[in-house]
Amino acid sequence: MRFFRAILMPIIMAVSLISGCATSNSGVGGFNLISVEEEKQLGDKFVVEVEKQHKVVSDPEVQSYINRVGSRLMTGVQKVEFPYTFKVVQDNSINAFAVPGGHTYVNTGLIKAAESETELAAVMAHEINHVVARHSTRQMTQQYGYALVAGLLLGSQGDIAKLAADLFGKAGSLYYSREMESQADFLGVETMYKAGYNPQGMVTFFRKLEAVGQKDPGKIAQFFSSHPQTADRIQNIQQEIAKFPAKSFAPDSTGEFERIKAKVQKL
Ligand SMILES: [Zn+2]
Repeated sequence: MRFFRAILMPIIMAVSLISGCATSNSGVGGFNLISVEEEKQLGDKFVVEVEKQHKVVSDPEVQSYINRVGSRLMTGVQKVEFPYTFKVVQDNSINAFAVPGGHTYVNTGLIKAAESETELAAVMAHEINHVVARHSTRQMTQQYGYALVAGLLLGSQGDIAKLAADLFGKAGSLYYSREMESQADFLGVETMYKAGYNPQGMVTFFRKLEAVGQKDPGKIAQFFSSHPQTADRIQNIQQEIAKFPAKSFAPDSTGEFERIKAKVQKL
């Protein structure tokens, strides 16, 4: 694994720029060298490191709220292969991320920036679908090679720690391909629609992010570093939403969201 640190790590960025794969937006199958079982094991190892690097909010009310939003979204996904978990981490930047195996984390900064439960659900729906379509293991295999990723399952926790910091740490970021990002948006719209959240929440929230980015780029740096240009993205999302039949949705927000947001603001 020393080889990995010395030789491979510096070229991750270069490789990620030329990687990418042709995926159809609606299909979540896709070729993946890592089995579902391997991804679950890898996810469990990553979780240990991610939770050393981020402070998980332990407030039971916040925890049960995020579980409820997550579980509701899970009713709208195409496939459930992993035991999904949802947690809030204390970090003011506007971001959310998902670790292999279905472990999804929401920054307190995202809850503070969202104006409604629907906007929060929009970002979570995007992240959940990176897992549903198994983007992280596919991206990791492309970036590092199968032998290295599979080797992590047998290797020491130290190797996992380094990779977890690079991909999911405070300053880390897993760079998905553009195709994967649009697929997560596309599937995210479908998930929201099926789970009864108005997918327009994705549009309103991304517009807001664009505005925040102009004023305070540092606050959304991580989110934007791994996501496509907002203007194109919003346009594609709107085209996608237009394909679904009109439907009436529950109100965007609830008193519960406001209460949780107020609580998180004091943390
Ligand atoms: Zn993404």
